[in-house]
Amino acid sequence: MKISAQCVASFHYTLKNDDGETIDSSEGHEPLGYLHGASNIVPGLEKELEGKSIGDKLSVVVPPAEGYGELDENLKQDLPKSMFSGVENIEAGMEFHAQTEHGQQVVMVTKVEGETVTVDGNHPLAGKNLHFEIEITDVREASAEELDHGHVHGPGGHDH
Ligand code: ZN
Repeated sequence: MKISAQCVASFHYTLKNDDGETIDSSEGHEPLGYLHGASNIVPGLEKELEGKSIGDKLSVVVPPAEGYGELDENLKQDLPKSMFSGVENIEAGMEFHAQTEHGQQVVMVTKVEGETVTVDGNHPLAGKNLHFEIEITDVREASAEELDHGHVHGPGGHDH
């Protein structure tokens, strides 16, 4: 069976950046399951998996436009520390849910300098090439319920 729309495929993956550093990996975990054609994974990877079958291994380089998007400088903002009243010891690396003109968004504090807090609402992988090593471990037909929900149930998928 080949991967096509309305299939559930599972795969092991290693994701590296341009420097060859591992960012994420399924090693030591269940393979990742996804519903093909439902935008569960980044578009550039989904496109390359089309037509592949169990046991196939592939290396895929996904550019930002087909991954987590280009870096948007408008999503970086300097805010007064007073906006974070109630937060003790605000420091770089902290994440907050913020209401922005683009809706609810996760922003990360990237710098604290004096009374100024710099936050970045870009996805941590925005603007980055994604180097995937993939091994497909399973391909099956999606259940009616999975198609209805738009995601995978069971091992490697949603549990609800
Ligand atoms: Zn569901």
